[in-house]
This record gives sequence, structure tokens and C-alpha cells, in this order.
Amino acid sequence: MAGAMDIATPTRTKDIIRKHGFTFKKSLGQNFLIDKNILDKIVDAAALNKDKGALEIGPGIGALTERLAQEAGKVAAVEIDNRLIPILEEVLSPYPHVSVVHGDVLKTDLAKLWAERFASCSQVSVVANLPYYVTTPIVMTLLEQKLPLDRIVVMVQKEVAERMAAKPGGKDYGTLSIAVQYYCVPDIVCVVPSGAFIPAPNVDSAVIRLTKREAPPVDVSDETRFFRVVHAAFTQRRKTLHNNLAALVGKDRKGELAGLLEASGIKPERRGETLSLQEFATLSEALASAGLIE
Ligand code: SAM
Repeated sequence: MAGAMDIATPTRTKDIIRKHGFTFKKSLGQNFLIDKNILDKIVDAAALNKDKGALEIGPGIGALTERLAQEAGKVAAVEIDNRLIPILEEVLSPYPHVSVVHGDVLKTDLAKLWAERFASCSQVSVVANLPYYVTTPIVMTLLEQKLPLDRIVVMVQKEVAERMAAKPGGKDYGTLSIAVQYYCVPDIVCVVPSGAFIPAPNVDSAVIRLTKREAPPVDVSDETRFFRVVHAAFTQRRKTLHNNLAALVGKDRKGELAGLLEASGIKPERRGETLSLQEFATLSEALASAGLIE
């Protein structure tokens, strides 16, 4: 595979781009990785082997895809930009176990893709340098669809990685932290400076690994209700939990709500950002039992 790992260098990336007359589209989050050490870190964090499959979202010109092809038994890469498809076909032609799918990942039937491409794989990981304008919808789609995947290793904006991994009590902790941590254990693999990409984005980035949990860490009888309560608690971050939840249960039941919060061991004047997953679970179950929400 000599030379196969060389796409992620400024020279080779520029050569490929020049040869195909490619121009970057900022609107598609096109910042291509040109740092081999960062690619190594992403691939190491994914811990692939020949029994495993890898789904890449947004392969660009195939720098990461090529590395995944060398590690995984099957690779599927979903790319929205049709101008990149011929480049990918050329770059990835030595790898018959890689399939490039042209489309928007958010409109792709992922369950079907799993059945068609990964049936022979023991496990599947999602590994990607994500387009930043759709990071949260992509990660939430992957988690909420309950796809059989073991981990997600993705490059995201540093600030988004910090929000995903945040613990209660700080400004970074919010609905994204809770949603991610309900399904996964997050850990930040490395922080990546903007110089690792062409063109350089105007934000720092980070690689985050989300290891899928076997089961959520808290018992909730209705996930939709649980996340409704979480969202309500963060509607206005400066407001107390009591005031934010009053909008959910109805202002006329505010007194009852205060009593229920106290009875659940949660001071009504606390803010949503101080509650742990367990406290949110306790609260959503208590609200339902008391008939304050459906
Ligand atoms: N993987 C390449 C790399 O690391 O150099 C490119 C990463 S670049 C940050 C993001 C890629 O996602 C681009 O190739 C872009 O065209 C693609 N993309 C943007 N939106 C997409 C979407 N909704 N579905 C699939 N691919 C998308």
C-alpha cells in the first residue's frame, strides 16, 4: 500500500484538486484533512479490523476513506457533492470493498445501507471528518435511529466536542451533552488546529469518540418524554428549572410543580444545567406519575 496514505498531505491534496479542477464549497463544510498524524489518531481511535465495517460521512477526496479501507473489512462512504464522486472512484479504485454512495446522509436510508453493505460485519463504526454545518443532526440521527454501531469517531468543532463531553454544572452542559451521554460514553481524543485542513476553518476542531452504551445509564419509561423534559429545562438557560418547566406543565400547575420538584430532591430554583442524567430521569418519571405531563 505504499503511497496509499499520502492523500493527506498538502502537496497530494492540491495535486488531486488541481487535476480535477475542484473548488471548495464552504456551504458544504468542505475542509479537507492534510495532516497524516491526525488521520492516524482518528483511525487508532476507531480500532477497526477486517471483521468490522466503517461508515464514513463526507469522504471528500478520500484521504480518510483510504485509511479506513486499509483497516476495515467493508467501508461505505456517503458524499453529497457529485463533483467528488469521480475523484473518489479514481482514488479508491484499488479497494473493491469500499462503496461510495452519492447522497445527503440525512436523507439516506441508513438501516437499508447497513443491511446492504455491512451484513457480513461483526460491528460497524462511524468514522468521519464531519461537515460542521450539520454535525448535530448527523450525530443525533445516528444515535436516535438506534443503528447497530459500536462507536462514532468524528472530527467536529472543538466547542461542539466540549458540549458533547460536558458534565453538569458548566456552561457547555446542555441538551446535546445529555442526548449524547444517554446513548454513549464520550471522550475527546485530540484537539486539532485549523492548519490541519485545506482550506483552514476559522475554528479549532477536535476528534471525539462516542462509545455506544449497551443500555442507557438511567431508567426511563418513555424516551420521548424524557427528552421533552430535558429540552424544556434548557429553553431559557438563565431561568430556573421551575420557571422553564412551568411552560411545559402549564402555569396553573406551577404550585404543584414546585412541590413535586422538592419531593424529588431537586430545588426548584436550580437551573437545568446543574441536573445530572439521573435527576432528569427521576424528574420525568415523577412528572408523568403525577399527571403533570403525558
Ligand atoms: N473526509 C474528508 C477529509 O477529511 O478530508 C472531507 C471532510 S469535509 C470536512 C466534509 C465532507 O462532507 C465534504 O466532502 C462535503 O462535501 C461532505 N458533506 C457535506 N454535507 C454532507 C451531507 N449532508 N451528506 C454527506 N456528505 C456531506
